[in-house]
Amino acid sequence: MKKTTAVGLFSGGLDSILACRVVVAQGIRVVALKFVTPFFDYELLGREEEYQAEVARKYGLSVELVDLSEGYLELLHNPAHGFGKHFNPCIDCKILMLTRARERMARYKASFLITGEVLGQRPMSQRRDTLRVIERESGCSGLLLRPLSAKLLNPTAAEQEGLVDRSRLHGFSGRGRKAQMQLAREFGITDYPNPAGGCILTDVNLGRRIERFYSGEHPFGGAGITVEDINLLLLGRQYLLFDRYWLILGRNEEENLRLEAARGPDDWLLQMTEHPGPTGLLRYAAREAGAGEGEELIRVAAGMAVRFAKKVDGVSLPAQVMVETPAGSESRIFAPLEESRFQAWRLE
Ligand code: SF4
Repeated sequence: MKKTTAVGLFSGGLDSILACRVVVAQGIRVVALKFVTPFFDYELLGREEEYQAEVARKYGLSVELVDLSEGYLELLHNPAHGFGKHFNPCIDCKILMLTRARERMARYKASFLITGEVLGQRPMSQRRDTLRVIERESGCSGLLLRPLSAKLLNPTAAEQEGLVDRSRLHGFSGRGRKAQMQLAREFGITDYPNPAGGCILTDVNLGRRIERFYSGEHPFGGAGITVEDINLLLLGRQYLLFDRYWLILGRNEEENLRLEAARGPDDWLLQMTEHPGPTGLLRYAAREAGAGEGEELIRVAAGMAVRFAKKVDGVSLPAQVMVETPAGSESRIFAPLEESRFQAWRLE
């Protein structure tokens, strides 16, 4: 007999793990989809196989990564259902994920969709009426099974057609986690992430930074936002020199390497050559710096990099910095810049 397949939305949190496992326990094949954007779990794209192996080992699930960035960056300009407490458009986010998951059902020959939503767990996106809106607007009416709260909701097509045994689903509701933890124990799942965290859009400071970028308060934000710019916005120390030039300074070796790799054709790169210190990226400087402004800009940016370089006996000393622009590269000694000179340019 042909095995039934379902597509599950997999955030990696306990609820989504359990929702998929409850369905797997009924002999159904589940393809777990993990959506990523620069705001959540984007780094997984660089280690997909390792992540798949980890999810299989820990949770017994088969997961696929799906990059949701394209539609997501657009969505953030004006989500139809607004934002949560910070810059998190949770309802529209779920609608978009479900829409994409539904579109992938044919690829896996799937009969229905699963989410780990629990009725009443989140004030905005998991109320009964909101669950219905999400289902309807994603085109998933009747297709979407929420195994953890199914007994409190109307039967879905999968239950009515006998693909899923409703009596083996659950009736969890509210914010408590006891029932989920008990179920995890029954499945032998012990190592799972705690509920907080994961999505940068719910972070008060980073959420505000992204919001400002979207509002156009940042000279390179507004319309036409790219994944690369968002990735840079979330990296290192951020400055707008002279309120115009976007400088990012790495805070550690990993960020320095990421800045080096992110360099585009219009960017200037600053690297400490003899002394440990930050790499700097002057984003779009080649097209923004007017005639005669380049030298001052380089002096200030390199002086800032030197200021954050490793001190000698507690003192910032002049250091050699290699500056690469589209016109070529040169290495020079730069003096550290006083923090008071650039503090006001810091972007929170
Ligand atoms: S917290 Fe972030 S990832 Fe989760 S639903 Fe809200 S916007 Fe989407």
